[in-house]
Amino acid sequence: MKILCVLYDDPKDGMPKNYPLSELPELKKYPDGMTLPTPKAIDFTPGELLGCVSGELGLRKFLEERGHTLVITSDKDGDNSVAAKEIVDADVVISQPFWPFYLTRELIEKARNLKLAITAGIGSDHVDLQAAMDNKVDVVEVTYCNSISVSEHIVMMILSMVRDYHNQHAIAKSGGWNIADAVQRSYDVEGMHIGTVAAGRIGLSALRKMKPFETHLHYFDRHRLPESIEKELDLTFHESVESMVAVCDVVTINCPLHPETENMFDKELIGKMKKGAYLINTARGKICNREAIADALKSGQLSGYAGDVWFPQPAPNDHVWRTMPNHGMTPHTSGTSLSAQARYAAGTREILECFFDDVPIRAQYLIVQNGELAGAGAHSYSKGTATSGSEEAERYKK
Ligand code: NAD
Repeated sequence: MKILCVLYDDPKDGMPKNYPLSELPELKKYPDGMTLPTPKAIDFTPGELLGCVSGELGLRKFLEERGHTLVITSDKDGDNSVAAKEIVDADVVISQPFWPFYLTRELIEKARNLKLAITAGIGSDHVDLQAAMDNKVDVVEVTYCNSISVSEHIVMMILSMVRDYHNQHAIAKSGGWNIADAVQRSYDVEGMHIGTVAAGRIGLSALRKMKPFETHLHYFDRHRLPESIEKELDLTFHESVESMVAVCDVVTINCPLHPETENMFDKELIGKMKKGAYLINTARGKICNREAIADALKSGQLSGYAGDVWFPQPAPNDHVWRTMPNHGMTPHTSGTSLSAQARYAAGTREILECFFDDVPIRAQYLIVQNGELAGAGAHSYSKGTATSGSEEAERYKK
């Protein structure tokens, strides 16, 4: 079989010769008891770069020993890209949300052999899920592999935005010492109302992590959490996103991108937020309206916006989120720490082993199967597509 794997570029100066840590902490299980990936073997060193082209997700030896062809590229945008050409006769495609190969309906229809699209990570909105259903292409992701990585990033971003860390760090780095400049936008998180849009694996973990900061916690989700968890964390459940954002000082977005959540944070919803709130989005860029976010930061309706997800990706150099005031954006990194890479590389291998050996893939990993939303996909997604506009990624200049 032919496996096409789209990965991000290597570091500019080549692969690292060494890493800060010599080993990763050992994790036994995910917080809800789900087991970590269970491939029969791995051919990589956990803690090394695996998500870039030379890292190969540690898959080459395994695939070639089984007689498969592996094509790896970072060239993914536009009709003339390597990925667009190679997809035509590929059986399996692997892509990552950090450097998404936008699998539009047009590409899916061209890929006559395609059976399986694997997201090496979580969030499969870069695949036109409706087209995958219509063309009987299964879609799977490595559920839980980086959910905790992201919730750590959310905590970092809430604290850094509310306390205004970026500004203070810039003053220290530039040789300054004006304390008044450094603190004129700096607050404590203690006592604030913090709400998450969606309390799935990431949202719930973010709530749990913010609890010790003596905050008031809120959530909105289409599935209500068990009463025991609501009691344990003293959560306020909201029937609508509008009701939640009206009372929160900090809102964090943790739902997948699908037709119901696309453009959810538009001018109107942002206008219903508490004046001066902070918005943290590590879910997907398209859940927020690009211009409405920039305008709200300029007017002061939002005091800060941070996250690591953009649309499209890579974001064009002139994307307004790069230059708007009071933002704390990173490129899409929260779910691809070296720790997370080891888990999603192992999970990708587990999925491929199941696929080749005709063993069922864990239901938790399924997004689309046999033309329908399935497993985690049936729980967390709605039918339809969210890939429109992705051609703009071609405008990014290295
Ligand atoms: P999850 O499936 O455990 O949780 C998703 C939650 O969203 C579910 O509780 C679901 O009920 C809720 N939801 C879905 N549609 C909703 C709607 N319309 N309104 C309210 N709630 C809704 O997934 P997770 O592991 O928590 O990940 C969530 C999302 O975070 C992913 O789909 C992905 O887009 C994003 N993510 C980003 C990164 C990153 O690196 N920045 C990494 C992993 C995941």
